[in-house]
Amino acid sequence: MSDHYDHELPTGRNLFISILMNVVITISEIVGGIVSGSLALLADAFHNATDTLAGVLALWTLRLGRRAHDEQYTFGYRRAEILSAGINAGAMAVISFILFREAYERFLHPVPIRGGIMLVVALVGLVANLVSVLLLHRSAGESLNVRGAYLHLLSDTLSSVGVVVGGVVVTLWHVTWVDPLVTVLVAVWVLKEAFSVVREAGGILMERAPIGLELARLEADICALSHVKDLHHVHVWQVSDTETMFEGHINVDDISVNDTGPIREQIQDLLHTKYGITHATLQFEFECCQGAGLIVNGRD
Ligand SMILES: [Zn+2]
Ligand SMILES: [Zn+2]
Repeated sequence: MSDHYDHELPTGRNLFISILMNVVITISEIVGGIVSGSLALLADAFHNATDTLAGVLALWTLRLGRRAHDEQYTFGYRRAEILSAGINAGAMAVISFILFREAYERFLHPVPIRGGIMLVVALVGLVANLVSVLLLHRSAGESLNVRGAYLHLLSDTLSSVGVVVGGVVVTLWHVTWVDPLVTVLVAVWVLKEAFSVVREAGGILMERAPIGLELARLEADICALSHVKDLHHVHVWQVSDTETMFEGHINVDDISVNDTGPIREQIQDLLHTKYGITHATLQFEFECCQGAGLIVNGRD
């Protein structure tokens, strides 16, 4: 008693171009950071490195997710996307803590900074970031990872602006503590990004119901159908951000198995069109789970 609905996946071309651009930004900022002595530029480089990692993982898991389901992976491979988002968030968290520590060192032991080089490289990074943001903007709503990569790039634009401002201040007034200050701001931003990815990916790994799904309304809709007496023992979860699974027991009148066919079709149609549920497994019963609630704390 299940049904499959196919989803179109976003094309990876723009993602690929943005990855290439990020590699270029990262390398030029690492070189620029070392030559100019600016930690903020290096911080932005590491930030971009995590974007590159996010992009590569997103591209890889988009491909992997298109693979057919098989006997080992009966849910398919879409969750690789969630795993990769988690790995990337971990990398972001580690990098931001390294940046905090390095910034603290620079506060205590300032080094001379060549503001001109810092400013030019930061400007190049900013422009490249803006182009990447425009590229990914259109496909941002399509998957958690592409949206993640997009939001990531958008925030990189902010951190690049920060480094540009830092470069201006260093060039004009030779105030070197601005450099570790901008580094800390970039690190805070990266940490914030990591947290939001962990929260969203964590919800999916915890089999949380999709945000905004009102189970009580869904129950009322199903119970309004003829012959349906109650709905109980329900589980709703997401395999990925575009696939929602549902299973539940339907207590019906003492009708023939054949008569449950039209009811099943009505329920599956309702679940799909009104609640975005892409895969439903329904167990029809006659008075066999006495006292079971909508949600059951049992093991089965
Ligand atoms: Zn970023
Ligand atoms: Zn039951």
